[in-house]
Amino acid sequence: MSKIRTHILGYPRIGEQRELKKATELFWKGEIPRPALESVGRELRKHAWRKQQEAGIDLVPCNDFSFYDQMLDAACLFGNVPPRFSWDGKSAGLDLRFQIARGARETREQDSCCGGTCGTGGFAGEMTKWFDTNYHYIVPEFKADTEFKLSDTKIFNEFHEAKAMGLNAKPVLVGPVTYLTLGKVQDSGNPDFDRFELLDRLLPVYEDILSRLAAEGAEWIQLDEPVFSLDLDDTQREAFAASYSRLARAAGSAKLLVATYFGELRDNLPLFLGLPVAALHYDAVRGEAEVDALLAAFPADKILSLGVVDGRNIWKNNFDASLGILEKAKAKVGAERLWVSASSSLLHTPVTLASEKKLDDEIKDWLAFADQKLVEISALAGLASGDGDQAALEANRASQKRRRESTRIHNPAVKARVAAVTAADSRRISAFPERQKQQREKLRLPLFPTTSIGSFPQTAEVRAARAKWKKGVLSDTDYNAFLKEETRRCIEWQDEIGIDMPVHGEFERNDMVEYFGEQLDGYVFSQFGWVQSYGSRCVKPPILFGDITRPNPMTVEWSTFAQSVTKNPMKGMLTGPVTILNWSFVRDDQPRSVSCKQLALAIRDEVVDLEKAGIRVIQIDEAALREGLPLRKSDWQEYLDWSVESFRITASGVRDETQIHTHMCYSEFNDIIGAIADMDADVITIETSRSNMELLDAFVDFKYPNEIGPGVYDIHSPRVPTVRQIEDLLAKAGNVIPEGNLWVNPDCGLKTRGWAEVKPALINMVGAAHKLRAAATASV
Ligand code: GLN
Ligand code: ZN
Repeated sequence: MSKIRTHILGYPRIGEQRELKKATELFWKGEIPRPALESVGRELRKHAWRKQQEAGIDLVPCNDFSFYDQMLDAACLFGNVPPRFSWDGKSAGLDLRFQIARGARETREQDSCCGGTCGTGGFAGEMTKWFDTNYHYIVPEFKADTEFKLSDTKIFNEFHEAKAMGLNAKPVLVGPVTYLTLGKVQDSGNPDFDRFELLDRLLPVYEDILSRLAAEGAEWIQLDEPVFSLDLDDTQREAFAASYSRLARAAGSAKLLVATYFGELRDNLPLFLGLPVAALHYDAVRGEAEVDALLAAFPADKILSLGVVDGRNIWKNNFDASLGILEKAKAKVGAERLWVSASSSLLHTPVTLASEKKLDDEIKDWLAFADQKLVEISALAGLASGDGDQAALEANRASQKRRRESTRIHNPAVKARVAAVTAADSRRISAFPERQKQQREKLRLPLFPTTSIGSFPQTAEVRAARAKWKKGVLSDTDYNAFLKEETRRCIEWQDEIGIDMPVHGEFERNDMVEYFGEQLDGYVFSQFGWVQSYGSRCVKPPILFGDITRPNPMTVEWSTFAQSVTKNPMKGMLTGPVTILNWSFVRDDQPRSVSCKQLALAIRDEVVDLEKAGIRVIQIDEAALREGLPLRKSDWQEYLDWSVESFRITASGVRDETQIHTHMCYSEFNDIIGAIADMDADVITIETSRSNMELLDAFVDFKYPNEIGPGVYDIHSPRVPTVRQIEDLLAKAGNVIPEGNLWVNPDCGLKTRGWAEVKPALINMVGAAHKLRAAATASV
């Protein structure tokens, strides 16, 4: 009986206690020397390999480690360094990589509102989301004259490091088609240059790397081509055809494994199956429905690696379900040609459950972080081989059953409420024009009303008070008194400078999702469940495990206090259901759309309670709506349908005169503007200032029906905009937005800025609005 092999595509690099983050940041501050940082990296790799070995993983990856980002590492490996770094063309090592990542200015390190998606970094390389994960990579840059040459040794060094431990590791590298696809052309002389023209210059470097790895004894090399889960055009398809026979030849004695993940292959399936390589990895979690089609067409000469353990989530694997898939695959390709793996790299999951001391046993029993997933992969391979640990299977079944039947997960009242939702629940009483009339009468705002997005600076003092309170050093009473004082001062200041619609400042919130998650039933929080977001930045997504209820009002006390301080209409501040969902680890036992609706109903109750408490304006932030868009265009509509409906459920429990705002941290709206308008918020605030209002182009053809506040203050920069600059931006906005619908506000929340910048910036913002108002009245 032959044993099915196991491997993983990649392992988290941050360390169980975020050792990498800590060491990297100390190094950046100059507090530890480079050898000390490198030794932390070495220890982390060693530890990761050892853990994989102990768990029974047959083939461990190397070069999955990175001090910042694997795409950046690849760019440096290829010598693809943007010219502005005046690189000497010799070795593109760690110092250069940090420079490209962080730039001359370090503004990005302070950005946190959107997990960095909106970060600027002076001269740093642009950063963007890795597919639909919350991991951000540094975007490779191409020019028509970009040349490539082997310029770094990291991949070889790590291979040798593993060898010294007695492991013939599998070096991991992004494949050429994905590399070119995910980069961008940055060439003012040739803006329309087709990056795939660089393929012929890039492939020799790949050939070089592969043949060198083969010469050094690599048996397997993994090339990641997740673009297979995207819509591909002819150029990309041709690039696949042109690349892989060359690469397989160059690899010689080493065999190639091409990995795709994050989605079904659909029309790309034949192309993938036709690659002339020895092994193919497939994401059988996201692609479960397509497994039969994959198996039916799977070539007789290749190894199939099936990712049955979810690399993107934290739930314990359902062994019976996975074994069902593996049995089918084994029947088709045979045990010798079947490998078991996780769907994607484990980079997107926290490291280990072992350090979690506060999660209760019942919930812990449902979870698997990276280390637990290693054990699952190994157990599944054993079971599918026919000589597995039956006790482990029984234990898994028992655990699945406990989860299925848990009363902490299943709340019949919530399920009934979701089932009873009707179209009327996602409709305001009247259409916008009538609401607008009533809101104008009630709120009596001037033309070009000024407001801000919610948070004010989270100063060191605020953070220190929260830390003390969390440690129990500061009492609830003292902490509350402190927060009230901050809030009062913040509102009084806004009144003083003439802001028309103040916000309370969100001093009591640590994070816009965590704050709500902590108050909702159906959520838990890990202590160490960190996942890398970018560079040294990690996020700890809350875990949505069960049906969602809101045991108590969550913000009513703060908002009523805030309203009591001012005569102006105070804007209540909530995070919307889609954003809460998209920034959480979400239960996998029901569709995301259902969890989203449950969240929507809970937040709707909060909206209604705020109205009852006399709050006349309520903002429901949907910062992360866009990032939940599926990878394939043809799947967008379904997502937009349920996400927009969820937002509308949240917003539709109130009277016409109550003004609903929403906010989004971007304004690449061109492709989803219809859906944004369908959300039917009375006012939407968006980010636009950095692009000089260019992002408003979407509104030239599409007449946005409701009120809108395009940001006029770039909160990602310490720069204070002048009155004149803001006036200019508003004048541009005025070209596409009717004057009566135009609001004046910053791009996003102010929590990452200091008061020293925020004060003059908002004073200038109010000044610009006053000037516009004066001009408008004069011209009447
Ligand atoms: N209300 C939130 C704040 O101002 C919105 C943050 C966001 O859009 N990311 O901080
Ligand atoms: Zn924002």
